[in-house]
Amino acid sequence: MRYAVLHRGDELSASLTNRFHELAAAHGLTRDESHPEIVISIGGDGTMLQAFHQYFPILDSTSFVGIHTGHLGFFADWKADELELLVQYMADNMQQERVAPRTAKYPLIELEIDGDDDIPKTFIALNEFTLKGLDGTLVAQIDINDQLFEMFRGDGICVSTPSGSTAYNKSLGGAMVHPSIESIQIAEIASINNRVYRTLGSPLILPKHHSCNIFSRKKQRLLLTVDHLTFPVENLRSIRCRVASQKVTFVRYRPFPFWNRVREAFLGYDENGCQIT
Ligand code: NAD
Repeated sequence: MRYAVLHRGDELSASLTNRFHELAAAHGLTRDESHPEIVISIGGDGTMLQAFHQYFPILDSTSFVGIHTGHLGFFADWKADELELLVQYMADNMQQERVAPRTAKYPLIELEIDGDDDIPKTFIALNEFTLKGLDGTLVAQIDINDQLFEMFRGDGICVSTPSGSTAYNKSLGGAMVHPSIESIQIAEIASINNRVYRTLGSPLILPKHHSCNIFSRKKQRLLLTVDHLTFPVENLRSIRCRVASQKVTFVRYRPFPFWNRVREAFLGYDENGCQIT
């Protein structure tokens, strides 16, 4: 089995990475940074976002596992002291040629950028993308399924995946969406609402095959973020987004249902009501 490790860069994550390579070599796993079947991210959720974007070109043939070196992450659910156990699971899986390990496949967002800035014209986001005004209010027209929906004025717009619904979207009052619901969620960031300007004011969830277009409605300096990546843009015409045709695969050597993950990450206790340290 070919694997790659990407770590956060701090001392603990780096030393865990070295230990992982030692254990993996002892169990006959093959280190392959360019075509891994499994990518292990060691650090936090931000490290998983980096791993996702680095290995995005081989998304169809690779799966991800996250080890956290701080608090329980949403994507990083293995603890640092479980390194040996994880390698053992990987080695068992390889040697016994069992059926493929259980996996969870999560929906992603596909964005197409129409504009004259020197940035990629397409992106895939694991968590979300946001569009914000750099000098103040973002003025944008939002169309749903190619029909005018609303004119938006405010700080910005956040469009998230179900797995990203627990991240920035949650801070904006968006709903947490189970990743089996293939959808994208549009949440407002501080919209202006008065007698003159009006937006829906509620987050909304679009199913697969629906699309949303965000048209920049004046000459404005904007900030586009896609997960942890940030791009200033000055010549944006529009962003078209929808549920991507591809999905990301996470290996689940042991089950960790989404709602358990939510309970542990946000409420801080396990299924027996015990506080998680
Ligand atoms: P980071 O690593 O500091 O992440 C910020 C926080 O978001 C961390 O606590 C991380 O655990 C958490 N997080 C990331 N993905 C998550 C998910 N899917 N579910 C629950 N929590 C999640 O910062 P970064 O490396 O730049 O990560 C970028 C992410 O930070 C963005 O994708 C965005 O979701 C999040 N973010 C959140 C806010 C906010 O809540 N106000 C603002 C900006 C960015």
